[in-house]
Amino acid sequence: MITTIRKDNAYDVAMENFDTAADAMQLDHNTREMIKYPERMLTVTVPVRMDDGSIRRFEGYRVQHSSCRGPAKGGIRFHPQVTLDEVKALATWMTWKCAVVNIPFGGAKGGITCDPKHMSQGELERMTRRYTSAILPLIGPEQDIPAPDVYTNSQTMAWIMDTYSMTKGYSIPGVVTGKPISLGGSLGRNEATGRGVFYTIQCACEHLNIPLKGATVAVQGFGNAGSVTAQLLYEAGAKIIAVSDSTGCVFNRDGLDIPELINMKAMCGHVDGFPDSEPIHPQDLIALNCDILVPAALENMVHADNARSVRARIIAEAANGPLTPEADRILESKGAFVIPDILCNAGGVTVSYFEWVQDEQHLFWEAQDVYNRLERVMKSAFRDVLKIHLDKKVPMRIAANILGIGRVAEAVQIRGIYP
Ligand code: NAD
Repeated sequence: MITTIRKDNAYDVAMENFDTAADAMQLDHNTREMIKYPERMLTVTVPVRMDDGSIRRFEGYRVQHSSCRGPAKGGIRFHPQVTLDEVKALATWMTWKCAVVNIPFGGAKGGITCDPKHMSQGELERMTRRYTSAILPLIGPEQDIPAPDVYTNSQTMAWIMDTYSMTKGYSIPGVVTGKPISLGGSLGRNEATGRGVFYTIQCACEHLNIPLKGATVAVQGFGNAGSVTAQLLYEAGAKIIAVSDSTGCVFNRDGLDIPELINMKAMCGHVDGFPDSEPIHPQDLIALNCDILVPAALENMVHADNARSVRARIIAEAANGPLTPEADRILESKGAFVIPDILCNAGGVTVSYFEWVQDEQHLFWEAQDVYNRLERVMKSAFRDVLKIHLDKKVPMRIAANILGIGRVAEAVQIRGIYP
């Protein structure tokens, strides 16, 4: 790992973002008390027999922030830096995100503190299955629906679906999304987050009169979200001048060959050493002279100490929480246009919703149908957020939070308090 990750607490960031938006919309105290905090938090011990015969204990979490508008929904992360606070923050953002794109889900998130890069497939499978059985009372297609996140994928979802189904006694594909197609996954789910990021960048470029063709782009993080975003921008004629992952950063002022880079990353597992590029320090990517910066790795990557160096006009938050509140303020004062995470990367959960709908109906859609519906949802959410941004003269992040929090607040107020 080369880039330093700031230790700002993601949950503090989520709470600060909530308060800023709630103040801007003059949300009353009672409603804040009802919607701000997670509904349920579960911490579990996950013992795993490792390949050498030893037993290792991992800690896992599942947090349901809100189920007011529908089943709680959110990914599962395997990473050494997973903490309960991080999972709480990510679950909170999921609630507002689902409301921003107006899909009938609440917010949840899960994770295991582990280093998946140093675990075998067998160890990962045993850990995933044991974790699934530990969180089993919370999950289900009508309750809480996990999905992939950092260092989890469709195979992880298949193990969760199988463990859950075997326990119930019959196949229940709707318990997870992001599944392989052969198990009831949706066409277009794998690239949905990057595709959604791409649609919001298209909208932002249109709004700011920046031609996408020829625009220069730097992408931090080259996993699912980052690589698909880069690929679609590349196809649209943008020049991807730099890409980083946890192993390093590659740069070419004339633009990197993204399809080739994706092939290399798939074969070798890193971007480092890509032909026709020069290596630069990963921290320098943020400061590159470019039109669009896409943080697509982890939280708090742009913070008080490096935000001033950002030169991009558009910051498209493919990752969750990549900017700290201080970075937000600095970028706002520099006139940067931030497409906030709960809008920018909502394509993933939107197609997860499509997948769940298809599973529940046992009727599956064509890929083009998924793309068309996704484009409509993303562009309409962008327009809604932009309108609040322009009408209320608030930053895009506050505008997105006002939209999401407002919809959740309305649902909570109508439902009332039980008992
Ligand atoms: P992924 O595991 O597929 O990819 C993560 C990438 O980040 C990898 O290329 C990794 O090498 C890179 N990375 C890790 N540490 C880094 C560092 N310090 N500097 C630069 N790169 C680093 O994960 P993903 O699914 O693409 O998720 C990335 C971000 O997008 C996360 O914040 C996630 O919550 C968010 N997100 C993902 C989805 C989804 O559907 N996959 C949906 C919404 C949001």
